[in-house]
Amino acid sequence: MHDALPPATPPAASDGNAWERMHRWVGGGVARGHDQALVGHRIDWLRALPFIALHLGCLAVFWVGVSPVAVLVAVALYALRMFAITAFYHRYFSHRAFRTSRAVQGIFAAIGASCVQRGPLWWAAHHRHHHRHADTEHDPHSPARRGFLWSHVGWFLTDEAFATDHRRVQDLVRFRELRWLDRYDTAVPVLLAVALYALGELLQHLAPGLGTSGPQMLVWGFFISTVVLFHATVTINSLAHRFGRRRFATGDDSRNNLWMALLTFGEGWHNNHHFYPGSARQGFRWYEVDLTWYVLRVMQSLGLVWDLRPVPAWVMDKAVRR
Ligand SMILES: [Zn+2]
Ligand SMILES: [Zn+2]
Repeated sequence: MHDALPPATPPAASDGNAWERMHRWVGGGVARGHDQALVGHRIDWLRALPFIALHLGCLAVFWVGVSPVAVLVAVALYALRMFAITAFYHRYFSHRAFRTSRAVQGIFAAIGASCVQRGPLWWAAHHRHHHRHADTEHDPHSPARRGFLWSHVGWFLTDEAFATDHRRVQDLVRFRELRWLDRYDTAVPVLLAVALYALGELLQHLAPGLGTSGPQMLVWGFFISTVVLFHATVTINSLAHRFGRRRFATGDDSRNNLWMALLTFGEGWHNNHHFYPGSARQGFRWYEVDLTWYVLRVMQSLGLVWDLRPVPAWVMDKAVRR
């Protein structure tokens, strides 16, 4: 598949003036570069502004205060959206590890889009690229090559990383709703923020005893929940290629790490995953906690997803550490 890619042309995303670059932030753009062109080396601070603002928004907590209901909403949105990222952005869109209906696919693509980790096509294209080139010079986020901070967040903010290489996701681009979520990847996050503000205002009006407000619900439900979710997700790019045990002799530095598996609902079994990315579960042993897998099993029993791809028996025979 790699060798069959069209010939290289200069990357489309690195030109243009400041306004054009800012405008493209809304939609990302389509990469037409060769593999090396997807690896950025310089943060585009202008296009990084909304991402920085997302973090600064958390500081408003000192003005809006806290209430149990606001924290509850923040935690619930973390859980729902982490599941959307791990089960759908990762295992379904990136690896096709199970099947589902177009409606369920669309719903979880939209929930995934609310995570401010760009659209489903962008996410899957970059992740497939990571698997193909993990910890080589073509990997945009290898801690071994560029250090912790770069692999954690720096790469995400380069001009090169904004674009989506559609050649990597030809099986997904035929769905117009997915293309729309990718093109307007700020739409769902903005909608979520507005809805949370409205919810807080409504609760303040209807149930003042809860002690919440529009601004408070916005800060906890959107800013804090989203920032924690983002950093938890990208620990898999940074920490899970550094700390943990290696069961399989993969050609990369991926590790299995229980703490990251708990934080990310199962993604911490990253060495398992790099060895056999096609299975719907990433904890290969019964004791390897994989919350995403358990929920997918429940969804399967309800008929919402099906054909969950198992871990073949030969895989465990290849383990060098049991
Ligand atoms: Zn990896
Ligand atoms: Zn993967």
